Amino acid sequence: MTEYSEGTIQSIAGPLVVARNMKGCQMYEVVRVGEAGLMGETIRLEGQLAYIQVYEDTAGLLPGEKVLRTGEPLSVELGPGIIRNFYDGIQRPLNEIRKQAGDFITRGILIPGLDHERLWEFTPVVTEGAAVVGGDVLGTVQESKVITHKIMVPPGLQGTVVEIRAGSFRLRDTIAILEHMGTHIPLTMTQKWPVRVERPYKKKIDPKIPLLTGQRIYDTFFPIAKGGTAAIPGGFGTGKTVSQHQVARWSDAQVVVYVGCGERGNEITEVLDSFPELEDPKTGHKLIERSTLIANTSNMPVAAREASIYTGVTIAEYYRDMGFDVALMADSTSRWAEALREISGRLEEIPGEQGYPAYLASRLAHFYERAGLVATLGTDERYGSVSIIGAVSPPGGDLSEPVSQNTLRVVSAFWALDASLADRRHFPAINWLRSYSLYLDFTKDWYAHHISPEFRELRARAMVILQQEAELSEIVQLIGPDALPERERLTLDVARMIREDFLQQHAFHKVDSYCPPKKQYHMLKIIMLFNDLAIEALERGMSIDVVSNLSIKDTLSRMKYIANDALESAFADIEVQLRQSFQTAGAAP
Ligand code: ADP
Repeated sequence: MTEYSEGTIQSIAGPLVVARNMKGCQMYEVVRVGEAGLMGETIRLEGQLAYIQVYEDTAGLLPGEKVLRTGEPLSVELGPGIIRNFYDGIQRPLNEIRKQAGDFITRGILIPGLDHERLWEFTPVVTEGAAVVGGDVLGTVQESKVITHKIMVPPGLQGTVVEIRAGSFRLRDTIAILEHMGTHIPLTMTQKWPVRVERPYKKKIDPKIPLLTGQRIYDTFFPIAKGGTAAIPGGFGTGKTVSQHQVARWSDAQVVVYVGCGERGNEITEVLDSFPELEDPKTGHKLIERSTLIANTSNMPVAAREASIYTGVTIAEYYRDMGFDVALMADSTSRWAEALREISGRLEEIPGEQGYPAYLASRLAHFYERAGLVATLGTDERYGSVSIIGAVSPPGGDLSEPVSQNTLRVVSAFWALDASLADRRHFPAINWLRSYSLYLDFTKDWYAHHISPEFRELRARAMVILQQEAELSEIVQLIGPDALPERERLTLDVARMIREDFLQQHAFHKVDSYCPPKKQYHMLKIIMLFNDLAIEALERGMSIDVVSNLSIKDTLSRMKYIANDALESAFADIEVQLRQSFQTAGAAP
């Protein structure tokens, strides 16, 4: 191992340490600070001075203590054992730390991200003599009840497999040997990767396949694509946690990476306690069997939030490379931005808007750009995706603040949680007038092909009705709904049906918690058919009061509870009933 010269602490300001005699140190090099060996990362270099953001509590650190270089960038260790694990921002397993150090993380503690003693059963999928390149799968390991982990040739390597072993191995045992131009390269079940560097892929592909969530407000109105990005601004109590849990449980991503940059320790404790207990309805196991959590504990300084974000996205990319669709939830990116602001302040950089550093926009963009649907490295044709769903917590719900604004600029779907909807117990409290999704267009063909050619048309018509309702609301407040022309009263009626019978979705209801896209289509089709039949009836002279009081509306309000296994016949029945009810009402004297 290379010996690096030793630096000395010159000054300490919160999480920022300045060290001298650091000549040759690289940007983003990991250093061990002080006698305690605190983990830090170099974020600015000035001659022999290194400015280090320290990922552990710096209390008690003194000028004059040593600073050791490692010569390496901040990296994660990738391999079996990540799933079902909880990590802190620098990939230390929280449970191991707790075991070794009690509830408080002892500073400077070094625990590998993966258990190096545990034996894993490795099953090769290539044979000796095979020519392989980076990304090719050498074999598999059953990582959890539901995840089969692919052991891949690390990016950049290539050669002929001259030896491959089957059986039980520890992570760092040699499971294969490659030969390339006369040299032998032993391979293990792990790879190391610097977190600030995007993992390579063959090419990025337009995100044209939706990440289906089973939530009507997203799938029908504001879809996210596999490999897409969405932001969800959530004030306290607006349903941010429930929304994220719903997407984690129901979306058709196979792997979930949850990054918690909570401010308060108890927020994280709550996540750590509740997340593993979530049932995974799709597999019948716990959700943790296909998830990993990265969480900052309360006694880690703000700087660690940045490490968590990068660690999380790197892990997500690694599972993407195996060909999985991965959903990364970051909660909340505002806390990360606040950490950037604090460090920037301590570096005495020229502040941008509201004290955030001028590079806030580029940092956020860089993070979200790591989402994507890709053709992975390797000789075979394999696709994987990372979708990023970032929660934002704008103070006071004010979306004009810099973090929200800069996030809006880079994400392609925006799900605006709305405190007033939450107050009215309209859940999910996503405001349909302020949200948007650029994936509507991208995923259009997919929906036409897999759900129905008329699905998007229905969605567009429903959206128009909701917009008209918003326009009418001022008049209604002034003169009351009864003074409106009949057609407009119908618009209000149908808008209410769209809101209550379609958009409202009960996360805790056995059936309604998940609504397959086909069912979303049928529900919307029936509501719009009601609208069309009502317009015809009004034109024939039926009064709006008769239309509004049709008992069929009760049936429509219960469509969300129709069992998912008998959709076609149930909706065909409802359509017949709906047409009949207008006929009967029309025939009545
Ligand atoms: P936040 O994380 O934004 O503080 P939560 O996600 O904890 O808010 O939601 C607050 C409460 O709102 C929940 O306890 C639940 O009662 C209700 N809620 C939120 N979303 C839904 C939903 N989709 N269905 C039913 N109830 C919901």
